[in-house]
Amino acid sequence: MKNWLGILVLAVTISVNAQSLSVENNFFVNGFNYHYEPDILPAKAAKTIKKEKFLFVKENIKYADHVFEASSFKIPMIADYFQMDELIREGKLVEVPEEGEGYTIQKLTHSRPVLLNEAYDVLKEISDAFYSQTSKKLSISSLTRTEQSQSRLRRVNSNAAKGESAHAYGAAFDISYSQYDGVRGRNYKYEKMVQQILDDLVKDGKIYYIKEVRQPCFHVTVRNPNLNYPADYPVEDILELLMSSDMHVH
Ligand SMILES: [Zn+2]
Repeated sequence: MKNWLGILVLAVTISVNAQSLSVENNFFVNGFNYHYEPDILPAKAAKTIKKEKFLFVKENIKYADHVFEASSFKIPMIADYFQMDELIREGKLVEVPEEGEGYTIQKLTHSRPVLLNEAYDVLKEISDAFYSQTSKKLSISSLTRTEQSQSRLRRVNSNAAKGESAHAYGAAFDISYSQYDGVRGRNYKYEKMVQQILDDLVKDGKIYYIKEVRQPCFHVTVRNPNLNYPADYPVEDILELLMSSDMHVH
């Protein structure tokens, strides 16, 4: 049953891709006898339909989803600092100022203050939103790592062992929740506010995030705004949405 559906979905995907149809109310090509019915979609999914583009937000986001988005930005996994410098020279990565209006970067040990442009924009969006509510600055505890620094970190931090390689594509950064305005200490009100800002960005299809426990930080991976759903996504994701949103095959 699953295999059969997989093949069918793949065929639909290829067809959507080939004809590059606009995805308004018709999610699938009519010729395939699939109908997308907005009224039976869960509210959360319906909210993500914007500008004729179907923004895809999964219910259960796995780390593989972070890596998928991070690696989709057309830069390779950064092997070492030499390659990182080259990507900066080519304009594919930008250096992030140590101090922004709404953030400060902590003393970094396994990463450098460098990001993809798209990720830098999101970092500013988050910190600006937090600053406008609190007049406090967020603390950024990690940005772009290299394959080399990632493997050194693996020896001291088990989060990194799980394959936190979204950092090695310049698409991820960590926001500390145990430091605000350079002062150490947790603040549950601020923590909730950050989480609310992040939740809104998840709904907008802009990021995925994980609240880490071993290291007191929110790990944020920036999603690629140029990916189109479903054409650019793995077949499993399309299948998952079909199953979860109760779409009908007529
Ligand atoms: Zn992280």
